[in-house]
Amino acid sequence: MLWIIHTLIGIIIGLLFNNPFIIIPVAFLSHFIFDAIPHWDGDFDKKRFEKTGIAKIKKSVFIIRTIDMIFSMLLLAYFFYITKNNYLLLGVFFSLLPDFIKIGYYGIINKIKFFKDYLIFHSKIQKETSILKGLIIQIIFFLLLIWIIYQLI
Ligand SMILES: [Zn+2]
Repeated sequence: MLWIIHTLIGIIIGLLFNNPFIIIPVAFLSHFIFDAIPHWDGDFDKKRFEKTGIAKIKKSVFIIRTIDMIFSMLLLAYFFYITKNNYLLLGVFFSLLPDFIKIGYYGIINKIKFFKDYLIFHSKIQKETSILKGLIIQIIFFLLLIWIIYQLI
C-alpha cells in the first residue's frame, strides 16, 4: 500500500485509542493487513526478490515513493496541527515502521537471516494488482479514511 493509506490508518488509530500500549501493536499490525489488500504502489519486481533476495528498484518507483512520502508527511502535519494530539505521531510511526525496517536492506543487517526472512515475508504478503485497479482501490480507501478522520476530530 502507498504510505498515504498507512498514514491515514495510523492517524485513525491514534485518534481512536488513548493508550500507547494499544496504539503501538494495533498500528504495527495494521500495516501487514493493509498490505494484503490488492493495491499498486509502483512496480517492484517482487517475484525476482523473493527468489534471489536482490531488490531492483526502478527510478519510477523511487519517484512514486518520494511523492507518496512527502504527501503522507503533509497529511500528518495537517491533522497534527488541527488536533495537537501526540498519539497521531505514534500511530503513524508504528503504522509505517514495517516499511522503515526495509531500509535495513541497504545496511549490514541485511546479512542477518532473520532480517532477510522478514523482507521476504513482507514482500510475500503484498497483493499487487494492475495500476488502474490498484489506484482505484486506494482512492476509495483514501476518501473513506479521510471521512472517518473528520468524524473523529
Ligand atoms: Zn509495507
